[in-house]
Amino acid sequence: ASKQKGGNCFTYFTPRMQEHAENRMLLSHDLHMAIKGQQFFLEYQPVVNLQSNAVLKAEALIRWQHPVKGVIPPMEFIGIAEDTLLIVPIGEWVFKTAIEQCRAWRESLHADFQVAINKSPVQFAAEYKKQQDWLKDISNGMTERNMVVVEITERLLMDANSQVSERLALYQQAGVQVALDDFGTGYSSLSYLKKFPIDYVKIDRSFVRELETSSEDAALCRAIIMMAHSLGMQVIAEGIESQCQLEILRDMGCDHGQGFYFSRPLRPDDFVAWVQQWQQHPVAQ
Ligand code: C2E
Ligand code: MG
Ligand code: MG
Ligand code: MG
Repeated sequence: ASKQKGGNCFTYFTPRMQEHAENRMLLSHDLHMAIKGQQFFLEYQPVVNLQSNAVLKAEALIRWQHPVKGVIPPMEFIGIAEDTLLIVPIGEWVFKTAIEQCRAWRESLHADFQVAINKSPVQFAAEYKKQQDWLKDISNGMTERNMVVVEITERLLMDANSQVSERLALYQQAGVQVALDDFGTGYSSLSYLKKFPIDYVKIDRSFVRELETSSEDAALCRAIIMMAHSLGMQVIAEGIESQCQLEILRDMGCDHGQGFYFSRPLRPDDFVAWVQQWQQHPVAQ
């Protein structure tokens, strides 16, 4: 860790880093307890079809209700969960919970409802090691096709050794759709997309943030949308926070969008209330 700055520049372990390391150790201990104690819960952020205003998708986002520290966001524990491989049982719990929720919403909200879950590359690699079991796991509990969208990142596509492309194709055969999350932040190029069986490209919110003022970001979004469409993929824009961003993206032909402008991620009951309100009056509050 001390050589991360590159070259011959060594940085020593500072009190601050010490504190950081201790905090990670404590959290990884707590994470073990969290799994046993069922301290995780999911929030769901609506994904709006920008052309029709329909809401037929939600992204499931994990939160940790820590007994002392309160609610901890995923960025503060997913990394530790990956390092300790606890991401595997956590990911299984997310998958199972999201599918159950989706099945309920297919009855109460819409027959075609879909839930997207985020999948860490570490989880993907662990599945690969288990060989034949992983396909059974993903189809387990999935009673209908296309209930689930698995969100992966460009980081995974760079992994040349795990037969990523072949396995994503098997996901699709098993009725699981694939979304490429945070697109544009990694190292893969637009032309890279064609090598992988992907259903949705998610434009990272860093390209949406300054859409109103940055002609470069606008050009980028337009290019991503055009390229994705020409490859038969749909586009989801992340982090829409204003009416103006929404309208620019809609005019560019972007298929779906999510962001605080529509709604923050919500607990299941609040999610249902939001969708019912939206269906009556599809205007952001
Ligand atoms: P992500 O998959 O890119 O999820 C989108 C993140 O952006 C979420 O943060 C969401 O709350 C936030 N967001 C949504 N709309 C807006 C907006 O308009 N403005 C801003 N500023 N932010 C917005 P969250 O829930 O804190 O999750 C962060 C990341 O943690 C996720 O990024 C994902 O990479 C990871 N994550 C979340 N849940 C899971 C999980 O169950 N498993 C795994 N492996 N990773 C997860
Ligand atoms: Mg995501
Ligand atoms: Mg994202
Ligand atoms: Mg993101």
